[in-house]
Amino acid sequence: MDVDALRAITPGCKHRLHLNNAGAGLMSQPTLDAMTAHLRAEAELGGYEAADAAAGQIADTYAALAELLGGRPEEIALFDNSTHAWQAAFYSLPLSPGDRILTGTAEYGSNVYAYLQVARRTGAEVVVVPNDEHGQLDTAALAGLIDERTKLIGLTHVPTSGGLVNPAVEVGRIARAAGVPYLLDATQSVGQFPVDVEAIGCDFLCGTGRKFLRGPRGTGFLWVRESALDRLDPHVAEIRSAVWDGDRGFSWVPGARRLETWENSYINIVGLGVAVRQALDLGLDQIGRRAIGLGARMRGLLDDTPGVTTYDLGAVRCAIVTAKVDGVPADEVVTRLASAGVNVTATEADDNQLDTEFRRVHPLVRFSPHYYNTEDELEHAAALVGAMVDKRV
Ligand SMILES: *Cc1c(COP(=O)(O)O)cnc(C)c1O
Repeated sequence: MDVDALRAITPGCKHRLHLNNAGAGLMSQPTLDAMTAHLRAEAELGGYEAADAAAGQIADTYAALAELLGGRPEEIALFDNSTHAWQAAFYSLPLSPGDRILTGTAEYGSNVYAYLQVARRTGAEVVVVPNDEHGQLDTAALAGLIDERTKLIGLTHVPTSGGLVNPAVEVGRIARAAGVPYLLDATQSVGQFPVDVEAIGCDFLCGTGRKFLRGPRGTGFLWVRESALDRLDPHVAEIRSAVWDGDRGFSWVPGARRLETWENSYINIVGLGVAVRQALDLGLDQIGRRAIGLGARMRGLLDDTPGVTTYDLGAVRCAIVTAKVDGVPADEVVTRLASAGVNVTATEADDNQLDTEFRRVHPLVRFSPHYYNTEDELEHAAALVGAMVDKRV
């Protein structure tokens, strides 16, 4: 990978040391150019006319996402974020009193709220599968919990608040053997390393454009396995998703697009397509090797810094690295690094409530490098953190 060349087409690299790819990755110049061109076309041609002129590019966003995930373009639906993509699948799954949803402690905060709301509404139950000795979802415990009441397995592949990579493939084997729908939140994993729906065996997968895919903010996508589409009763019907059959009847449009809504930012959709093509051109194997390698390097540098402790769980860890600095609150570490030109964030307790209750370690400082970061940048960030350690603690 020619990191220098990739940095040269990433304007943000000139100004900041960006270690917040789990928040939003830096867009590349080609993505920026495609988006500004579409913005200009909307102003000069008209919004609908610009979308017509860009029909090929818009179709390619679906095709590129399908290629990225190992699915087909008809199995992709686009949204304005990953949360709405996830909700389109989850709120469309019929549940009845006594039905069970199985999830894990890494589950994303909004998903947990949705489970609890639907449990309250329908009488379904939410069961949290314990972790194994590595701190990842215990697949043996999951297999033991499955019975005829289980109507959904909801798993977060990589949590927002740590370097854990959950055993998504093993969960897929269990879900398939039991015939239970499997909804994977891959928001932090897609774009960071290869994520293939056939290898994983999930039925629904959501992701966002802005994080490790380096697309624009305000983009998200859902993949729905064709054979799982009939399990969903789309939670909203509107002119994009439905077809008027006359006599006060309607049917759904074919494929996953029955979950979409009419109005979209085509600027964002065009930009997302360019970002996904860029990831495909680089190769997800290569991206994953470098990103995960930089994560391990960051973790190692912090672990070797006296007064700094890392907290990432799991047998497999990724490019997200979380740490505490003796005597300095996480938010203050973030502020001090920001004033030195380094972008990191602190984990939010309520964004991953079950993990917060289970571990009681949040907030942590979250470093999330990506393939375009350099070893020098990581060393510089670690040295700045080391200099903050309160030696009196
Ligand atoms: C960021 C995140 C989400 C939500 O994605 P949005 O695009 O902000 O809706 C969901 N799950 C995980 C694990 C995340 O980190």
